[in-house]
Amino acid sequence: MVADLADTPSARLCGSCGMCCDGVLFHAVELQKGDNPRQLASLGLKLRSKKGVSSFLQPCSAHREEGGRCSCSIYDQRPQRCKNFDCQQLRGLLSGTIAEDLALERVQQARTQVERVLGLLDRISPTNPNRSLAHRVANALTLPPGVERGAPHEELETAMKGLESLLQKEFRVS
Ligand code: SF4
Ligand code: SF4
Repeated sequence: MVADLADTPSARLCGSCGMCCDGVLFHAVELQKGDNPRQLASLGLKLRSKKGVSSFLQPCSAHREEGGRCSCSIYDQRPQRCKNFDCQQLRGLLSGTIAEDLALERVQQARTQVERVLGLLDRISPTNPNRSLAHRVANALTLPPGVERGAPHEELETAMKGLESLLQKEFRVS
């Protein structure tokens, strides 16, 4: 996932993004073979275990954002899944098929759409900031009986669909 704070193209890209750590791209991260759950828990990751599989929810507690720059507070000891994940933009940048300016522009475009979704969420109802963005949007769009859907709900659904489509096209990997 995110690169360290070195001044390299990949560090500049991931430093401006953070979407694979802050709950925009993922709901949760599963630990892999080779990860040490006890050590990761001691570093502050809030692990949960289900059917023998340990994972942690996003936004990740090791994710930091300061002055518009993202980083991982446990970068050298981050889980395997984080070490292995490169989104489409990072892959393209590293292989030379996507120019840094274009990758940065796509991150900015996605971040702008994330801000729009967050703004609409704020307008509609309080949601748990410790859950993924998709989870929060689904909660906000699940209305109690008797409450009618209004224009902000439609706007939120449209904004989230637009964001998901961009994430699928430019960031997610299969
Ligand atoms: S989503 Fe891609 S560009 Fe953004 S932090 Fe993760 S790997 Fe880096
Ligand atoms: S451990 Fe680091 S790289 Fe992994 S999700 Fe958390 S902030 Fe991102």
